[in-house]
Amino acid sequence: MVWNSHIPVKSAATTWKLLCNAGAVDLNVQKKGVKLPSRCYVCCQYEESLKHLLWECEFAKKVWKCVCLKFKFRNWCSSLLDARKATNGRSPMIKQLWDAAIVGTIVTLWRHRNTIYHDDRHNDLSRYTSMIRREIRALITHFHSWAFLQQDCRPPNS
Ligand SMILES: [Zn+2]
Repeated sequence: MVWNSHIPVKSAATTWKLLCNAGAVDLNVQKKGVKLPSRCYVCCQYEESLKHLLWECEFAKKVWKCVCLKFKFRNWCSSLLDARKATNGRSPMIKQLWDAAIVGTIVTLWRHRNTIYHDDRHNDLSRYTSMIRREIRALITHFHSWAFLQQDCRPPNS
C-alpha cells in the first residue's frame, strides 16, 4: 500500500516508519530503557504510543472522520486494517486515491504531533484538517501525474 509509485517517496518513508512502530513516541523511548512519564502531546490524556496517536486519540478520530466523510465512507477508521477495508468492492482508482489519503492522513497526524512536541502549539482541528486536505490534494495531484504517465507509457492498442 505504502510503496507505490503513486505515493511520493518521502510520504511513503514516513508512513512506513510509523507503521513499523518506529516513531520516537514516549512508549518507544521507554522501551529503549529511558524512564520518562508519558502523555499524548495532542490530547494530554493518555500514554503516547503510535497506535494511540494515529488511531485512538480523539484528535485522530476527528481527523479520520473528516477524511472518511470526504470519501463518503460511513465507517470511521480505527486501525490501518479498518482503513484498508473501507474500499472493499471499490474501483482500483478509488483504492489508490484512498491509499494516498491514508498516507496523507498518517503523515499529517505525525507532523501535527511533532509541531506540538517541538513548538508547544495548541491543537487546532481546522488548521490541521486544512493541512491534511493540502497533503491529500498534493498526493492526488501526484497520483494524477502518475496515472497520466502510466497512460502515456502504455503500448498502443493494436
Ligand atoms: Zn491523544
